[in-house]
Amino acid sequence: MKKHNFSAGPSILSPYTIEHTASGIRDLDSSGLSIMEISHRSKEFMAIMDETQQLFVELLDIPSGYSVLLLQGGASMQFCMVPYNLLQSKAAYLDTGSWANKAVKEAKFFGEVDVLASSKDTTYSYIPRDYTIPADADYFHITTNNTIYGTEIREDMDVPVNLVADMSSDIFSRPIDVSKYAIIYGGAQKNLAPAGVTFVIIKDAILGKVDRAIPTMLDYRTHIDKESMFNTPPVVPIYAALHTLRWYKEQGGVSGMYKLNVEKAGILYDEIERNSLFTSNIENVEDRSIMNVTFIMKEAYKEKEADFLTFATGRGMSGIKGHRSVGGFRASIYNAMPRSSVEALIDTMKDFEKSI
Ligand SMILES: *Cc1c(COP(=O)(O)O)cnc(C)c1O
Repeated sequence: MKKHNFSAGPSILSPYTIEHTASGIRDLDSSGLSIMEISHRSKEFMAIMDETQQLFVELLDIPSGYSVLLLQGGASMQFCMVPYNLLQSKAAYLDTGSWANKAVKEAKFFGEVDVLASSKDTTYSYIPRDYTIPADADYFHITTNNTIYGTEIREDMDVPVNLVADMSSDIFSRPIDVSKYAIIYGGAQKNLAPAGVTFVIIKDAILGKVDRAIPTMLDYRTHIDKESMFNTPPVVPIYAALHTLRWYKEQGGVSGMYKLNVEKAGILYDEIERNSLFTSNIENVEDRSIMNVTFIMKEAYKEKEADFLTFATGRGMSGIKGHRSVGGFRASIYNAMPRSSVEALIDTMKDFEKSI
């Protein structure tokens, strides 16, 4: 049975990405060689790297003065690279989940960290809005989509300092105004490619303002100067990312994806509201993620949770168990998730309700 893949990450990729990547692994453009066994300095790979970066620029409408870096180390490496390169005296962070929290922890190695607000008190069930960003902070760090908790910040904020965003799980899900950000980063494994490549969109002019010495590999300037080719880049994930981006372009770019994402999330949240067994754990409708839809069983049906999981698994639903810190369920409906799979989940929820 073909599975409906609701995994939070690594997660679903489009059949287009998987087919084209597999083909290049066997034989890259009829060259008789695999993408895995050619030099990263070959003209074939250089063209792949160039087109991938170019598609970032085109799809996200990245203005001049920014660089697109394709690095390794995951979003978790960025938790340390950001403060290493930017934190001179003080940084401000918004604590909206455990990824945000991990970013805070790393920043503390480099200077004073001001956590402006946190929704930890309610297991991160909302996006805090009541805080003031200190004008003397070197930057303000946010996590736009909280993959574990199902909350999302979908507006490009106007802030008085450099804005840094972890967009690991919602990059390319909607149009963004890149000019409002100093850095946007993320791991690839949610909306782009298999794990192994990390994207960083960085405004060049923000660098060179800290006093400390920065090790070569952790200095953004190294990767800007060498166009992400200082050392061997993760060639296969980059090749896969290229196909995902080509596919996004075919689908009408990020505005096309956004339209589809709003529809998919809309019908699923509607069913969660309608169904007598389930409820959303995110009260504020505006805060609900269109990438990771979390929901729980109503108090009266709590003991049916395991039954629903078994029922849904039998219907081909994969990866809908909620994160252990939240419980309940989480349907990750990233860009590559077809509407038909979301509809299959909705039918499963309806049929389970009838069976009770
Ligand atoms: C998955 C995820 C991470 C961790 O990414 P790695 O590439 O595994 O380091 C960080 N932030 C967010 C928001 C995530 O969803």
